[in-house]
Amino acid sequence: MKLICIDCSEQVPDAAFQYHCSCGGMLEIVHDFHGIDVELLRGIFEKRLAERMTPYASGVWRYKELIFPELPERFITTRYEGNTGLYSTEALSAYGGVRRIWFKAQSENPSGSFKDNGMTVAVSHACFIGMNQLACSSTGNTSASLAMYAALAKSKAYVFVPDRQISANKVLQTLAYGAEMLRFSGNYDDGIRFLERFGAELGLYVCNSINPYRIEGQKSIIFEAAQMLKWQIPEWIVVPGGALSNATALGKGLNDLFTLGFIDKLPKVAVVQAEGASPFHRMIANQETKLRPELNPHTIASAMNIGNPPSWKKAKRMLAQTCGVTVSVSDAEILAAKVLIDRSGIGCEPASAAALAGLRKLTISHVIDKDETALCILTGHILKDTEVLSKHFDQDPRPSIQLNLHHVQFTGCFQNPN
Ligand SMILES: *Cc1c(COP(=O)(O)O)cnc(C)c1O
Ligand SMILES: [Zn+2]
Repeated sequence: MKLICIDCSEQVPDAAFQYHCSCGGMLEIVHDFHGIDVELLRGIFEKRLAERMTPYASGVWRYKELIFPELPERFITTRYEGNTGLYSTEALSAYGGVRRIWFKAQSENPSGSFKDNGMTVAVSHACFIGMNQLACSSTGNTSASLAMYAALAKSKAYVFVPDRQISANKVLQTLAYGAEMLRFSGNYDDGIRFLERFGAELGLYVCNSINPYRIEGQKSIIFEAAQMLKWQIPEWIVVPGGALSNATALGKGLNDLFTLGFIDKLPKVAVVQAEGASPFHRMIANQETKLRPELNPHTIASAMNIGNPPSWKKAKRMLAQTCGVTVSVSDAEILAAKVLIDRSGIGCEPASAAALAGLRKLTISHVIDKDETALCILTGHILKDTEVLSKHFDQDPRPSIQLNLHHVQFTGCFQNPN
């Protein structure tokens, strides 16, 4: 595999200290898939579903040949991430307005978000090249994931966390795994810019989505969904977009599957942003050629509260390749979708619910047809971002009832069994 600049196509020797080409372009990993026997590989992926305590029991490393074939096994740092459920209910499909929706619950990952799919690969790569000071700037889930894998790898995690608009329980989770936390005044975008500029000088291995190894790992989300659906994927893939790493990775993974012949048609990708943090959607909707950053991004969905998404060029190319679309949704629409996902028993954090809210909006406006099918990526766990939940339920205080252990005093709340 090679590291190639997405702007000038120059090959760059090693990603250890470098996340950009000398021309300033972002780097991406390009594999040489020549000579791959797809039927053989399909069989190997199938067999590995029975593995338990080996790296291949992971829902990411199961697809090692398509992600990081050169990595010697002993450097793999895994918590058997991936292996997440795929769900479909009639009520949620009806709400989205299509024939059937599948929800891929990346919320079931060990640290509670899809960030684990990519982080296991980034941290394994860091081990491989002998770096043990890992860093990221994060709205919460990236830092929790990094902190978890760094602890496993016995490396140090330095987490740059904005001092506002982040979720308390994500911060607490990160501290609990033992990361060093550096609070700074500013937002996610300021933190990432700092790390891009000074990470190498400080000897830090940067684990944000500018790290191309994370993107390779996140491809596994679509690999796993495709395998679970017997390589028949829905017509639409709907994903929330913040830094746009997930959208980029899905597109890259789909492209791999299509070029190799695992799937016979390319689905379309819909990227959903929150209205208060939607620079990518604005650029696409207004047919602009360059992304204009949102200087004061704001949304209740903290994981998408990003005004200057680093991967916008990659995501734009992905959108063109898949004939995809973008849409933005309000915080109220996000919360309405979240209530339904939570009550269906699947549950997710607000940012994840944006996928369903966006899908609904796209069917109402006839961009997506009611006879089509969709796969929504649920990015984070119901126990993340619980500030939103406490606000919701604090407004609804229920009085406590008195229990009498001698006889039943009330019956009104329950359905009579007779
Ligand atoms: C990171 C994150 C997102 C946004 O993903 P990007 O790759 O940054 O676009 C959405 N939802 C959750 C829960 C996240 O953690
Ligand atoms: Zn370049």
